[in-house]
Amino acid sequence: MANTMDPNNPSGDIVDRFADIEVLRYTVPGFEELPLNKKLFIYYLTEAALAGRDILWDQNGKYNLTLRQIAEGIYRNYTGDRNDKNFKAFETYLKQIEFGNGAYHHYSTDKFTPEFTQQWFENELRQLLNKDKALADRLNPEAIRMTERLLFDPSFMAKRVNQAEGEDLILTSANNLYEGVSQKEVEDYFARIKNPKDETPVSYGLNTKVIKQNGKVTELPYKVGGLYSPAIERIVENLEKALPYSETELQHKSIVELIKFYRTGDLRTFDNYSIMWTEDTTPTVDFINGFIESYGDPLGMTGSWESIVNFKNEKASRRTEIISNEAQWFEDRSPVDPRFRKPEVKGVSAKVINAAILAGDSYPSTPIGINLPNANWIRAAHGSKSVTIENITQAYDDASHGNGFNEEFVIDKPTRELLDKYLFITDNLHTDLHECLGHGSGRLLPGVDPDALKAHGSTLEETRADLFALYYLADPHMVELGLLDNPDAYNAEYYKYMLNGLMTQLMRIEPGKDVEEAHMRNRKLIAEWVLEHGKKDNVVELVNKNGKTYVKINDYKQLRELFGELLAEIQRIKSEGDYEAGARLVEQYAVKVDPRLHKEVLDRYSTLSIAPYKGFVNPVYTPVTDNNGNITDIKVTYEEEYLPQMFRYSDNYSPLTR
Ligand code: ZN
Repeated sequence: MANTMDPNNPSGDIVDRFADIEVLRYTVPGFEELPLNKKLFIYYLTEAALAGRDILWDQNGKYNLTLRQIAEGIYRNYTGDRNDKNFKAFETYLKQIEFGNGAYHHYSTDKFTPEFTQQWFENELRQLLNKDKALADRLNPEAIRMTERLLFDPSFMAKRVNQAEGEDLILTSANNLYEGVSQKEVEDYFARIKNPKDETPVSYGLNTKVIKQNGKVTELPYKVGGLYSPAIERIVENLEKALPYSETELQHKSIVELIKFYRTGDLRTFDNYSIMWTEDTTPTVDFINGFIESYGDPLGMTGSWESIVNFKNEKASRRTEIISNEAQWFEDRSPVDPRFRKPEVKGVSAKVINAAILAGDSYPSTPIGINLPNANWIRAAHGSKSVTIENITQAYDDASHGNGFNEEFVIDKPTRELLDKYLFITDNLHTDLHECLGHGSGRLLPGVDPDALKAHGSTLEETRADLFALYYLADPHMVELGLLDNPDAYNAEYYKYMLNGLMTQLMRIEPGKDVEEAHMRNRKLIAEWVLEHGKKDNVVELVNKNGKTYVKINDYKQLRELFGELLAEIQRIKSEGDYEAGARLVEQYAVKVDPRLHKEVLDRYSTLSIAPYKGFVNPVYTPVTDNNGNITDIKVTYEEEYLPQMFRYSDNYSPLTR
């Protein structure tokens, strides 16, 4: 247990706690032992990572950067009573927007509601602008007015990403990826420029803002000399500093290509970079830096800027190497229609890494596993690279012991002991299987549009990867491969998965609201579907003990068969591009919440002091120099607090607000 301050191992320490958020610390085991050239490589890449922070803020909402400058300015210049009710509410709000990289919750994408009064805010704002003339000159008066409206008019730019069926998803989403265009105009525009016969299509719209100019729909690319140029120039500058420390010829070439992409905005160049990056599997140090995941766009096209710098965890990587080497074995036995299997699984490269820095869309909230690139044809032709971020999962695990969760929600002592013993390893294996086999498995039938599942594409893709992982976690082959030492160990992950999907993940949803986020929908879809389809054999049930609901699993073996059955159906939907069937599954199982059970989960949670969402502060890297100014070492420290880190980033890594 590490959630008390232990200076020797701060992994999992709670750095801050506010609203529905807990901020933890992660450590970077193995960094100190790296040779200097690798430390320098990592250092310049972390600088390139931090340089892009403002891009994501602006992508997340047009007035976010104005909001941040005003809010940080008020907070840092405040001289009044820090116990004042308005100030305290304001402090929470500031922490929330720092966590959301803007005015919206990182997960629900709903706008944060300020609990301080407009009058208090206006007064503080006036004082700030009188005091900080440079800021007053820099900010556009119209943007200040709109920012105030953003804060105090609940209906104005209310949701960052709206996924509600039947509405204009572009006009009703407050993100800054589109402006002055309707969903239909955007769809028509891309339908016009896409060539359906192109077998190697670029990722249309990945790095652009779509606007209307002189009545015509057009794209503004993010690039040097284009949108976000000052931040992109700084990214490029640091990538160039990192370049000489590349570990392989191919890595060197891929970084050169990435720089070229940032200079030109050309998506073919990005694909070339992605291919080189995918094929370059040998270096210890690796990174992503770019417009990657498209969850922030209701149409799933524009990439949110992010960066993660990492290096290989050699010991834990043996686990994923074993899994990847068996990729074809798993694919050939997958419980799906043989027509949908890949005859030849290409280059599934998987490793376990330690993150050295999290940035952009991966900070402070971060994924625990990543599988890239996203372009379907590149994955088919060149494979993909998959990672599990072990120092992050370790920090979660360190923080979770002794918080009372299992005592409250897990049905009995033997199940709790099972979780204590096997959840960490099976959870990691689940992530490994999800990332290195799940997403890479299966194939589309010829002529099927990869975007055929439209707004449900992300949910169904995550469902597919999770089911693949769940199905194989229980396979005796896992024990034969030496990955688990007990054929029943998978029960731990199955129990937690069902508990989370049916009940405990609901703590992240506000009363009366639907489940919206793709991963949450996927877990609910799977759990609800197997609950219903296992009913006649009583495979899983919700039981009542002393007025509380518990998940009870009666037959783990049959549960596995159900996961396999659903996998076959989801793979069919994906392979055939059967939008109707996919939409039906999502609507039926993944969206609507039972209000009674929801209330019970929230009530039981409120008795524990566990935050529904967690994120991280980064370590601090400091160059050590000799008398001649040569860098002789890079020191890593784990002392920085949450808001001070945000302020340091705003002071030193904010090219778009200067
Ligand atoms: Zn996934």
